[in-house]
Amino acid sequence: MDLTGKVAIVTGSGRGIGKAIALRLAEAGATVVVNDFGDSAPAEQTVAEIKQMGRQATAITADVSSAADVTRLVDTAIATYGKVDILVNNAGITRDQLMMRMTDEQWDSVIAVDLKSVFLCTRAVLRSMMKQRSGRIVNISSVVGIMGNIGQANYASAKAGIIGFTKAIAKEAAARGITANAVAPGFIDTPMTQAMPEEVRKSMIDHIPLGCMGTPKDIAETVAFLASDEARYITGQVVPVDGGFSLGKV
Ligand code: NAD
Repeated sequence: MDLTGKVAIVTGSGRGIGKAIALRLAEAGATVVVNDFGDSAPAEQTVAEIKQMGRQATAITADVSSAADVTRLVDTAIATYGKVDILVNNAGITRDQLMMRMTDEQWDSVIAVDLKSVFLCTRAVLRSMMKQRSGRIVNISSVVGIMGNIGQANYASAKAGIIGFTKAIAKEAAARGITANAVAPGFIDTPMTQAMPEEVRKSMIDHIPLGCMGTPKDIAETVAFLASDEARYITGQVVPVDGGFSLGKV
């Protein structure tokens, strides 16, 4: 896979899966716009690691659930590098709670960061991708968006929404040479899942046919493929990267 000359935006790439994606795209030759929210240090660290590889990168702090921030993110990326070839909608949060106790804030924040951001970022890059008649959009969903999960009605709704969104955009943008696909990670070892109690982590692993958690690199390899020319004939698809978890109970 050769992404030389391509410009990518990866949302939420200060740590975890997003960081692994940013590093992998850079390794394949891409220039990467590293986005994260809040403290700028993690995104700057990702940029430093990319520059060590001899690739170009820039960090832009922006809340991807804010339309104004997303406009600034994409406008700055285009002003700096002239175009956006690859958008990876990765930023996401969880606010788990059983349905009976879920607050409006828990619902709204997950829908805003995990789903509305995908709409905002895609809309913001689409005009320039349409003009250049090429583009790759890769959305990070979750097996939870396919299977559901106790205590995650908000997250499952957002992640299932991403799948519908991906298929709609795939149809809408196909005539302009733009593909849109979703990756559905299973149980991946990142700060998000490291926050779970040890017994929950153990019982999750018991349900994974391949018998272990995935790594951020497992997701990054799939994203890099979907972002490459080699994946030119794949669009509107959902690729589970989950050690067989979505097959059901072992
Ligand atoms: P993480 O919490 O380790 O990293 C998420 C990153 O997104 C953080 O750097 C965070 O600062 C950033 N972020 C959060 N809100 C943001 C906002 N409003 N604007 C910009 N950036 C923001 O999570 P992760 O495990 O690396 O997850 C990455 C993606 O993969 C998420 O969409 C998540 O839902 C999905 N996913 C993760 C797993 C898993 O097992 N870890 C499984 C399925 C799907």
